[in-house]
Amino acid sequence: MSYQTGIGQRTVVVTGAASPRGIGRAAALRFAEEGWAVAILDLDGPGAEQAAAEIAEATGQPTIGVACNVAVQQSVSEAAQTINADSNLPPVGALAAIAGIASPVSFMDVDLELWHRVIDVNLTGTFLTCQAFLPAMLENGYGRIVTMSSVSAQQGGGVFSKTPYSAAKAGILGLTRSLAREVAEAGITVNSIAPGAVETDIRVGSTDSDEEKLTASIPMKRQATTRDIASLILWLCSEDASYVTGTTQAINGGSYIS
Ligand code: NAD
Repeated sequence: MSYQTGIGQRTVVVTGAASPRGIGRAAALRFAEEGWAVAILDLDGPGAEQAAAEIAEATGQPTIGVACNVAVQQSVSEAAQTINADSNLPPVGALAAIAGIASPVSFMDVDLELWHRVIDVNLTGTFLTCQAFLPAMLENGYGRIVTMSSVSAQQGGGVFSKTPYSAAKAGILGLTRSLAREVAEAGITVNSIAPGAVETDIRVGSTDSDEEKLTASIPMKRQATTRDIASLILWLCSEDASYVTGTTQAINGGSYIS
């Protein structure tokens, strides 16, 4: 392998990192704190640019924020071209495919449009971003991919979102395992994380009382912080995690133990 992977020589692509209180944002900051250059892809273009600017200001690392709908192939391939062509950024060494949407709708009320939207953003978005950024990793002989599942995939809902979300997040586990096997020989690892409830704004419509009940149901009696999740993603992208692939990393405060 000719490509050296030392700190400061890699770019991580983080999708879904514009939301100020979100997991993607915390992950992007955590990577930059450890010396990674950061490329943020988000549906919210101005939010992605602002997040990138704030992280650059806080850490001094090269960053870029790009408007991208992960569910649309052309949007993803244009974003990948922009990032790969940016001479301020070192080669892409990792992808954290975090962008996702929730869906708390009961099964009989799910229409086909909602079903497609939830599958498209969560599952197809993961497929498209993995396919767009794998070539750079294969070329460099080094790569880390972390996909975003959920405890909802493992236990069947039970947190906030319901069936389409659980199906999409379970699909991500299948994608992750199969892709891990395909690219292992090329030195690329692919792992998924399955958080329980995390303190973010994704559960739109959840009341204070809903949140209290949710927190009370967790053995550790607290929801995860976004930094808890970011630290696991960072570790999975480190050289220390080079022999970990195809796994589902549970991070749920004991709410689902298998
Ligand atoms: P969030 O709503 O705070 O952030 C999601 C981000 O994704 C936003 O910046 C949003 O603009 C972006 N996004 C949405 N649709 C997009 C699209 N089509 N293309 C590009 N970007 C898009 O959510 P969060 O809580 O930080 O969740 C992040 C991920 O973690 C999601 O995949 C979610 O399903 C998963 N997750 C969250 C929890 C939790 O409790 N918060 C638990 C388990 C898994």
